[in-house]
Amino acid sequence: MLQSFMNNSDSIISLKDLSGHYEFINSHFEHFYQVTTQQVLGKTDAALFTHEITEDFHAKDLEVAKLHTALESEDIITLSHQPARILHSIRFPLLAEDGEVYSICTQSLDVTLHHEDELRMHLAEHVFNRAGVGILVTDAKATILTVNDAFIRLTGFTEGETLGKNPQILASGKQTKEIYQSMWAALLTQGWWQGEIWNRRKNGEIYPEWLTITSIKNPAGKITNYVGIFSDFTAVIESKKRIEFLATHDELTGLPNRSLFLDRVHQAVTRASRSQHTFAIFYVDLDDFKIINDTLGHAAGDNLLIEVTHRMRECLREGDTIARFGGDEFAILLEDSSVNEADMMASRIAESLKRPHDMGNQKVYPSASVGICFYPNDGSDAETLLKNADSAMYRAKGTGKHHHYFFTDALRHATEDRLSMEHSLRKAADHNQLFLLFQPQVDINNRRLVGVESLVRWNHPEKGLLQPQQFIPQAELSGLIDPISAWAAVESCQNMARWMRQGIILPGLSINVCGDQLRSFTLVTMMRQLILELNLNASTITLEFTETALMRDIVHAQSVLRELKSLGLRLSIDDFGTGYSSLIHLQHFALDEIKIAQIFVKDLALSPDARIVAQTVIAIAKSLGIAVIAEGIENHAQLQILQDMGCIQGQGYLFAEPIPGDELVNRFIKR
Ligand code: C2E
Ligand code: MG
Ligand code: MG
Repeated sequence: MLQSFMNNSDSIISLKDLSGHYEFINSHFEHFYQVTTQQVLGKTDAALFTHEITEDFHAKDLEVAKLHTALESEDIITLSHQPARILHSIRFPLLAEDGEVYSICTQSLDVTLHHEDELRMHLAEHVFNRAGVGILVTDAKATILTVNDAFIRLTGFTEGETLGKNPQILASGKQTKEIYQSMWAALLTQGWWQGEIWNRRKNGEIYPEWLTITSIKNPAGKITNYVGIFSDFTAVIESKKRIEFLATHDELTGLPNRSLFLDRVHQAVTRASRSQHTFAIFYVDLDDFKIINDTLGHAAGDNLLIEVTHRMRECLREGDTIARFGGDEFAILLEDSSVNEADMMASRIAESLKRPHDMGNQKVYPSASVGICFYPNDGSDAETLLKNADSAMYRAKGTGKHHHYFFTDALRHATEDRLSMEHSLRKAADHNQLFLLFQPQVDINNRRLVGVESLVRWNHPEKGLLQPQQFIPQAELSGLIDPISAWAAVESCQNMARWMRQGIILPGLSINVCGDQLRSFTLVTMMRQLILELNLNASTITLEFTETALMRDIVHAQSVLRELKSLGLRLSIDDFGTGYSSLIHLQHFALDEIKIAQIFVKDLALSPDARIVAQTVIAIAKSLGIAVIAEGIENHAQLQILQDMGCIQGQGYLFAEPIPGDELVNRFIKR
């Protein structure tokens, strides 16, 4: 009977004598430890199990024998190649009549599964309560059974206020019936629903949440619960809104950006085409903004942009749109505007900009160039209108500061020319369409070569040979002058080096430098590299700057020039007398040479003024130890006057036109 009791028990049962030999095991023991009664009886643990198990059992058995009482423990058993199992064991002594222990009985229950469940529960609870997302669980009738900590935090309701209630307590009233209907439909058909829902916190605040609801079914397929998981969406929506704002607005001024402006113009086109109205587009570009930015710094530039935005806004009527396209470019859409009204508006804007603006210890007088065009006269779609207003703005810039300019048919053609020119100019340098000519510079007393000036030409694929006047002004406006000038400088130096290798020594080389190249120190880096790589004698190379380029930012130009000077280069001021600099300024720049502009040379014989200018320039240059060279000498009369004035060097058609390198070498060097 006892045997059968034992064998049908859930427990794993064994009896050991005091020396640790097994006296009895039940069938559960056989099964659990994968042994047979024959193998076990009379053996010790050491003969049956691993060292670890043996030690563990031995220690516990010993304790029971010593204390004479029952001992409960968790035994972790790892049999070979099997996951660990957990036994809940009770060991107790069997006592003889004299009270001595003669056997130890062990009964163990396998609690592994129970343990794992407990662990899982513990984990689930942890996740449930620590989750950043709100969780609520309802029964099949949508009565709330439990909510987590995040739910309480996000909704403001306590556990007591929610348990037993319907999730309706959260409804904001902002949601349509349809959304709840589609939610329930999805839950019933696919078992889950996900979407954005506006709910109400206990304090009345309405907030967006991202909600996922899942239905839970029992094994029979009947829905027993719903689990709702939601996160507060407010922050996400706010950053989404911000991203949308930034995508359509300029961050600095808060004005619409180009893409939003284009949208507004599209809408205006649609409206105006229906109502047969006209409207105007302004393209506004601040004058000299770059100079302010470069000299006073970006913060000052930003400050000016904000001020200018404010002033222009004040001029506009409600319903007009002003946008910033980046940099110092703005655009304005004037709804329902006649030519007269647009004209007046442009003047009003010019007036309001003119007021001085305080920037620290400096006063700035902002001004802008404005290009204006009209729908439908100057274009029937937003892109064309903007492009044409832009062209008109360029034209306004060309006529000086403070101007506004209307787009016209003549301008249209000029624009098309300009755009196609820009396009092909971009490719010119890459496609070997640019080349250099060299114009000799001579000692006017003996006509000996003292140097050459390199001058760029463009072999245009369709238009043929183009002179600098036909593309340099364009290149300056579109920012392409920099790469062209750089190309010319490199090419000039390489020519000089090539001749040098052939034993042909050029007494001097003059290279024209544009204003843009003075903005940064790249010119310095480039020249330093050319001199080193080509092993050139820097003192035979002269860089020609125009007055306007130097005057644009005197302080900065000075530091660039100083660097160039330290490379050993000569510096020359080109077309002297045509800009607005005075001779005083010459002292600021460590100049080596002044080139008297062509227009003075041309008029020498006719105009006393021209003679006075030339004479003065020569005298002052001499007193400052600066060389003088007269440009554009075409006839002997001019030459004679210059000689009388003490001018030593000259350049002009009288001596030679700009000529190809080979011709230069043959005619002037190999004689
Ligand atoms: P510039 O530097 O003052 O060059 C002198 C211009 O006067 C040249 O015109 C030359 O052909 C012309 N010239 C020379 N002698 C006479 C003369 O006796 N009579 C007349 N009427 N003209 C004469 P070009 O080559 O058309 O160049 C015009 C301007 O284009 C140059 O004026 C210069 O500012 C610019 N330029 C030319 N090549 C380059 C270049 O490689 N880089 C840069 N940045 N500018 C260049
Ligand atoms: Mg020049
Ligand atoms: Mg010149």
